Amino acid sequence: PPNDQAGPADGNPSRTETGTDTELIRFDSVTKRFGTHTVLDSLDMTVYSGKHVTLIGPSGSGKTTILRLLMTLLKPDEGTIKVGPHFLTHEEKAGKLVPAGEKHIREVRKNIGMVFQQFNLFPNMKVLRNITEAPVHVLGLDKDAAEERARELLDLVGLTEHLDKYPTQLSGGQQQRVAIARALAMRPQVLLLDEVTSALDPELVAGVLDVLRDIAHTTDITMLCVTHEMNFARDISDCVMMFDSGRVIEFGPPEQIFSEPEHERTREFLSAVL
Ligand code: ADP
Repeated sequence: PPNDQAGPADGNPSRTETGTDTELIRFDSVTKRFGTHTVLDSLDMTVYSGKHVTLIGPSGSGKTTILRLLMTLLKPDEGTIKVGPHFLTHEEKAGKLVPAGEKHIREVRKNIGMVFQQFNLFPNMKVLRNITEAPVHVLGLDKDAAEERARELLDLVGLTEHLDKYPTQLSGGQQQRVAIARALAMRPQVLLLDEVTSALDPELVAGVLDVLRDIAHTTDITMLCVTHEMNFARDISDCVMMFDSGRVIEFGPPEQIFSEPEHERTREFLSAVL
């Protein structure tokens, strides 16, 4: 069909905006303190649409704090965070900084899915309902459409036969795959993954990472991932950012960071975890 031919050559300007170099997430001079402890120190960071970015670095270097700021579970002390056109902190209007409105914050929350180390499923709901709950109650999707989508996602994460079980009837790895399906059910632009295999028994890790690899390679979702699984990071990342004491000390494609790190701290960190 002729529509398949549509593209930049047709002069459709909206096409170029969906290119891979569209900025999706932007941190400008973001500082976050807990008491007197500065966890993020004037952090500048950009994530482009459709890219998969992995945050690595020692425990306590501020990686999770970045995800929690994006999820609006925390507020920065200084600086600006923007997701797409939406501001999470404040925006400049007529030369003045004004606080971001509730509308921006709601939009960002709707567009970001997060999967945690502890799966955080709703224990009183069966698997299918865990996945349909937010699409029905937050997006206003009708129940049948939400269930159809949930079944597709359960197929994607390999759990079709478990849709009628409660979370406690599943292994940790299976629960985590439900949590991934639940996050995707909202059709978020961004998926945040916070050490999603750290709480799993070793034999269950591979199944979860395989599902995430599949998602990374077959969808155009933007991923921001905190992990200690370096082989996984190497497989899925477009960009690896090495954190130390609340700053990005170096970043680049995985081949570069893992094979030819420039920074002594990165070399030390990698030799300890690889
Ligand atoms: P990472 O994910 O790199 O391990 P985090 O972002 O979890 O690091 O934490 C960075 C630092 O902030 C740690 O020293 C941690 O103890 C501290 N921290 C995180 N959350 C809180 C909080 N709610 N209150 C006080 N300190 C916190």
